[in-house]
Amino acid sequence: MFKLPELGYEFGALEPYIDAKTMEIHHGKHHGTYVAKLNEALGKHPELESKSIEELLSDLETIPEDIRTAVRNHGGGHHNHSLFWENMQPGGAKEPIGAMVEAVNKAFGGFDGLKEKMTEAAVSQFGSGWAWLAESDGKLEVYSTANQDSPLSENKKPMLGVDVWEHAYYLKYQNRRPDYVEAWWNVVNWDAVGQRLS
Ligand code: MN
Repeated sequence: MFKLPELGYEFGALEPYIDAKTMEIHHGKHHGTYVAKLNEALGKHPELESKSIEELLSDLETIPEDIRTAVRNHGGGHHNHSLFWENMQPGGAKEPIGAMVEAVNKAFGGFDGLKEKMTEAAVSQFGSGWAWLAESDGKLEVYSTANQDSPLSENKKPMLGVDVWEHAYYLKYQNRRPDYVEAWWNVVNWDAVGQRLS
């Protein structure tokens, strides 16, 4: 059974960029529901019990057809949000550090290039989804996914993702997704992101 992970910080810790109410609903209700529905689906196939969330999402083709969509959506939701909370811890490095600097320079010409590209992917994602910084074959890339699709299902390793579902920003930013994305850069913790680099 999967569990909703603790946030590790207060709902209001990311103010004024992300408001406490949004964090409370987003973590408890939205992420909580993904976890509950993932467990409900897996309950129909106890043979999958020992699999990690990464294993489930990396190999969707092998998931029994009757729960494949549920695992893709709710399992993706669980994994995407778990990363999201970890990468937004208050404090920490405000820009790439260590080995991440070289990897970002190589792929994007620098942090500004990465920010520009990822912001563009986030703002232009049509409808609900995520913009990602992902690693694939040892290289960093930026792209976006629809709904709760995980980069893991495309053989990519998610390093950093920004949630552009309206539930992530509507209370504070309403329709102003670009303002939310710009604010979000202020709460990314590059210590946490850097630990994911292979
Ligand atoms: Mn979300």
